[in-house]
Amino acid sequence: VIEIRDLHKAYGALEVLKGVDMVAEKGEVVSLIGSSGSGKSTLLRCANLLEDSQQGEIRFEGEPVLWHGTGLGRRPGDHKQLIRIRTNLSMVFQQFNLWAHMTILENVIEAPVTVLKRDRHEAEALGRELLAKVGIGDKCDAYPAQLSGGQQQRAAIARALAMEPKALLFDEPTSALDPELEQEVVKVIKALAQEGRTMLLVTHDMRLAADVSDHVVFLHQGKIEEEGPPESLFGNPQTERLQQFLSHSQ
Ligand code: ATP
Ligand code: MG
Repeated sequence: VIEIRDLHKAYGALEVLKGVDMVAEKGEVVSLIGSSGSGKSTLLRCANLLEDSQQGEIRFEGEPVLWHGTGLGRRPGDHKQLIRIRTNLSMVFQQFNLWAHMTILENVIEAPVTVLKRDRHEAEALGRELLAKVGIGDKCDAYPAQLSGGQQQRAAIARALAMEPKALLFDEPTSALDPELEQEVVKVIKALAQEGRTMLLVTHDMRLAADVSDHVVFLHQGKIEEEGPPESLFGNPQTERLQQFLSHSQ
């Protein structure tokens, strides 16, 4: 579904991504691990064009969405394509970013109604269904401040799903949560993986990465240092850097 080739990204003189290649096929869960500052969030943000990059190519369902050779994805006329990418690669953030003045259900249906022009009643029906699916069907009319962190994050996941995306991008979805609330969210992510959702998951939770991933990518200083199936990456890490990283994150 999503293919990233030779991606380079710098903030001024700071080179954050130094040529990253990554592919997530339909139904695959690809996890991104690595120490703080290695460029994980930047990679996700570049993938759904929240962030501009300097070199490389991004393809979505085989079609180039960003190709620096042609400047595609950067012209003003590409706005439609930008919306297509953002709606198809729905992102869930560490801080749930729910709108405080809207109920949970309103939060979930906002983008489908305004961006996708969905019928309000249909969007509401789908929204209720999704909130039930993530286990907070009884919170539709509550406001974000009335929910626990775990419930808010599950609402944010329902909101991402409401866009009916082709893939979900998670950026440390559990790291703002207390351990017991974390498990509620882990359960939802595992269920989504089992449904065969395509996901790119940035996580510090190695157990979660080992459980749900088809493929794990270890990023170190803006480059892929090691990658592979979770069994070999966690069970038999080859590089010293990964061995070191894993020994610190148990
Ligand atoms: P963490 O695990 O702490 O979330 P990360 O792997 O997600 O780390 P990034 O957020 O991608 O790391 O940041 C990579 C590098 O880019 C860091 O050195 C960071 O300071 C820098 N950086 C990130 N965003 C910006 C920005 N908007 N402007 C300048 N530098 C930035
Ligand atoms: Mg980050």
